[in-house]
Amino acid sequence: MIIFDNHFHVDPFKGLFLEAVKQFHRAGGTHLNVIYKTAHDYGFAGVKAEDFIKAMDFHLELVKKINKESPVKAFAVVGVHPAEFVYLAEKKGLEYAKNEVMKALEYAQKLCFERKAIAIGEIGRPHYEVSEEIWEASIELMKYGMSLAKEADCAVQLHTESFNEKKFRELGQIVREVGIRPYKVVKHYSPPLIKVAEEEGVFPSILASKKTLMEALMQGSRFLMETDYIDDRRRPGAVLGPKTVPKRTLAFLQQGLMNEDTAYKIHVENPKKVYGIDLEE
Ligand SMILES: [Zn+2]
Repeated sequence: MIIFDNHFHVDPFKGLFLEAVKQFHRAGGTHLNVIYKTAHDYGFAGVKAEDFIKAMDFHLELVKKINKESPVKAFAVVGVHPAEFVYLAEKKGLEYAKNEVMKALEYAQKLCFERKAIAIGEIGRPHYEVSEEIWEASIELMKYGMSLAKEADCAVQLHTESFNEKKFRELGQIVREVGIRPYKVVKHYSPPLIKVAEEEGVFPSILASKKTLMEALMQGSRFLMETDYIDDRRRPGAVLGPKTVPKRTLAFLQQGLMNEDTAYKIHVENPKKVYGIDLEE
């Protein structure tokens, strides 16, 4: 059986790295979307485009290593985290930061064109309070990333402040403005507003907690599942553990809370639709 975690980080310095991937596999997981962390996490300064580019290359190496040294099939998602932009804008000024981040996002797009990565992410806007100026610029960069993804016909994974129906409606306007295909915009860490997301042309990736999954399933199966595992030994329990997506999926199947067809939709058909990846190969 195929089980896919749509948002998983690895950190070879602060985390368990391959051991976390193996835990995922032992619990029944088979496929992973490994999301770029930050340049800083990977040992680069994160003060110019070149730093982000090096960090993305480093990220590709980590994904390669997972594919070589574990039974799990991993895919790379690369971008510039919104917090990296905020940090840079506060340190070096808005225009400078915008320019560097745009260049880095263009590199992420290049990696998607070359199929070394399957999506641009996580990009978006900070989940904490920032100045009006930085907020506006973050939205501009989010739109820029979405338009790059549209050009490359790849998906984009969005990181945002916490979301509700009103926020989905706003995001829907941006999706339509950019003109990117509706199932190519993935809202990472999405609340289980499955119907609303569909109406607005956004693909939700929901946290694999019991409550969230239960609520999502009541509205259908048009969603992906994720842990947002951060792989940081100093913050155990800050997010769901690496085994959660397979564990939860198998438990729900066993308890009759999810049927085989729905599991197939979430773990095989939806990733195929969003990323164009065939996990049955
Ligand atoms: Zn994340």
